Amino acid sequence: MEKTVVGIDLGGTFIKAGILDARGKIYAKRKIPTRAERGYRAIAEDMRDLAQVLAEESHIPFSQVRALGVGSPGIVDSAAGTVLSNCNLGWENVPIAAELMKLTQKPAFALNDANAAALGESKWGAGGGFSSVVLVTLGTGIGSGIVVEGKLVEGFHGAGAELGHTTIRKNGKLCACGRRGCFEKYASATALIEETRRVMRQYPESALWAEAKTLRDVDGKTAFEAAKRGDAAAERVVAKYVDDLAEGLANIANLLRPEAILLGGGVAQEGEALFVPLENALRGKIYGGETYTKLILRRAALGNDAGLCGAALYALEKINDEEKRSCN
Ligand SMILES: [Zn+2]
Repeated sequence: MEKTVVGIDLGGTFIKAGILDARGKIYAKRKIPTRAERGYRAIAEDMRDLAQVLAEESHIPFSQVRALGVGSPGIVDSAAGTVLSNCNLGWENVPIAAELMKLTQKPAFALNDANAAALGESKWGAGGGFSSVVLVTLGTGIGSGIVVEGKLVEGFHGAGAELGHTTIRKNGKLCACGRRGCFEKYASATALIEETRRVMRQYPESALWAEAKTLRDVDGKTAFEAAKRGDAAAERVVAKYVDDLAEGLANIANLLRPEAILLGGGVAQEGEALFVPLENALRGKIYGGETYTKLILRRAALGNDAGLCGAALYALEKINDEEKRSCN
């Protein structure tokens, strides 16, 4: 019988969950507010309730759900199933997998949300067919996850794979992590929006003002749209953004040389307007060139489901490993 698992994407605002089969088909999904102030036990109870409701909606007896996986922000020790630290939720050393196991009497696992998304994308999304891929999500910050030869590379206690906090400018802009010049300070959607606003203040005659009537209306699309109209200031914003993004991606390529880098988040929706200049900008930055090993850039495919898909896939892989071990 097809194995069924529940994947949960724990966010600061919402808990999203889905029930999936072993091929990544989502039978049902739901989201509820996180209300983090309640503490982790109440949140784990909500996760259990969600899993039960999803099973019911999909006409699958809850007894047939094999395992649960949780993707959580922060540093997550996946081997222990513990969230070591998470500023958004105010969690420290929270044994979320053990709590869920107690509540559901089923195997439960936890990992970092960006790592979960990378795993999901690598097998069920845009990375299907590649064994080594890196997912870079351009959002409020830069989320990242690394899959090498089909396996997640999470680092010691799950604290690694934070590519958004690698430096692209020594003594550059101050990052929330405490260092300066981090990749995400230049190439996240937030960075693009800040730069767009700065240039708008400087050029009151720019067509950027036709795309966003006030500075508050600026989003990740504003500069791209004005650049398409041929506005010189907007073209400069886009060119600088693309160059900084290429700088960080080249570091990733030179360190890991994955078959593909997948780009997620709103900015990646720009499609060719982003990918064509980005490929050009990357060309000169990759060590050894690309004559023999082409680096493929692709837009991530799973969107907001990447986290819950990856959490489900992680749980599935863990129970499969366990079965293999007990057979031997
Ligand atoms: Zn940083």
